[in-house]
Amino acid sequence: MNNLWLGIETSCDDTACAVLLETENSAEILSNELYSQIDEHKAWGGVVPELASRAHLEKIVPVVETALQKAKEKAGVELADIGQIAFTRCPGLMGSLLVGANFALGLAKDLEIAAYGIHHLEGHLAAALLNQSLNPPSNGVSLTETPFSPPVFSARRADEGNLNPPNLAVNVNTSPILRPSLEPPFAALIVSGGHTELYLVKDNFEYVSLGRTRDDAAGEAFDKCGKIMGLGYPAGAEISRLASGGDPHFYEFPRALQFSSLRAENATRNRKADEFLETMANLHKEEFSFSGLKTAVSRYISEHGEKFVQENMPNICASLQEAIVDILSQKAVTAAEKAGVGSLVLGGGVSANARLRELLQERCDKKGLRLIYPQKELCTDNGAMIAYAAILRKRKGKLEREVKVKSWNPLAE
Ligand code: ADP
Ligand code: MG
Repeated sequence: MNNLWLGIETSCDDTACAVLLETENSAEILSNELYSQIDEHKAWGGVVPELASRAHLEKIVPVVETALQKAKEKAGVELADIGQIAFTRCPGLMGSLLVGANFALGLAKDLEIAAYGIHHLEGHLAAALLNQSLNPPSNGVSLTETPFSPPVFSARRADEGNLNPPNLAVNVNTSPILRPSLEPPFAALIVSGGHTELYLVKDNFEYVSLGRTRDDAAGEAFDKCGKIMGLGYPAGAEISRLASGGDPHFYEFPRALQFSSLRAENATRNRKADEFLETMANLHKEEFSFSGLKTAVSRYISEHGEKFVQENMPNICASLQEAIVDILSQKAVTAAEKAGVGSLVLGGGVSANARLRELLQERCDKKGLRLIYPQKELCTDNGAMIAYAAILRKRKGKLEREVKVKSWNPLAE
């Protein structure tokens, strides 16, 4: 059926598959399955590309089968009902991407349906918009409390042999749509293990880069600093958990490429020096740099000793987290303001961070900006976001059957 989508995500170390039912202005997630390869990689303290490809190959079939089984239980959907497949084609680890793309194209060929390659970062943005359409209604009824009638599908496939079948009549009581979908232009901050990007999102899926990291990504900063502190991999969620009981101002870790910190570090302050620093700050625009945090954390540990660090772990985690989310939220809000837009969309694994959401919300409120972020389970990589990114493109007539797999492919130059 033209309104049933399979979304496949294998760009890094998560093997993920979702079944989505496209509705008039939104989509219903019928299943969203994931196999996380953390156990395969944690002994190495990071993702090993070769191991990731092998694990995807082993897990893709069971993950897709489970997603289909759950969609069947929830809504009576069969594999033969799937109308099209969306898969991540870039950016990511080449071996990982190839497993997902190959599987998606093979399955699509067998089912005689179309498969569409999707940009992973567009998926992260789509996750926030999918969340928006799934928000609970203002009368306080949560999504799980909303009565759900399984869709009733016609027994016969009307689309046999047709790559673009018409929609079949589907009787489904979908979640209420509470707010109109967000129309461009808006600003976007994507923060994950591999990316830290600020965009101006224009109409027709046109992206303008407003800033990005010069070195480590925000999630990478969490993970690598966590590794130095002896925490598990990936460390983002663990640092966030420990930080909730700590003092964010226990120690001021450096905020890189920030005019105020550049000035603060400059001992001989005079007008010329200030002018220079101002020029530097403008040159950097909304660029980020997180690699220095690793050195700062290492130094802090060697200066204070392991025992002190263990005893003060919540405070140190809260301070480290504050340094990362402070700079992210500050620069994202400045970028959105400079771009003259009214909304900021947040996405990527780090957008699950509660303090980042809180500080961004506070700063957006001050500037009258609307902040939109994904529901927690859609922040990290998943198949639903890939299918929804394809749905958003289809609605605008911009969905192409692009199958080229690329390890690096910026959304905006
Ligand atoms: P990828 O970079 O592979 O696309 P994801 O989008 O799934 O990955 O994001 C994974 C990253 O998100 C990891 O670096 C992880 O540490 C980070 N992360 C997940 N949850 C949190 C959290 N609550 N706070 C901070 N970082 C988090
Ligand atoms: Mg990601």
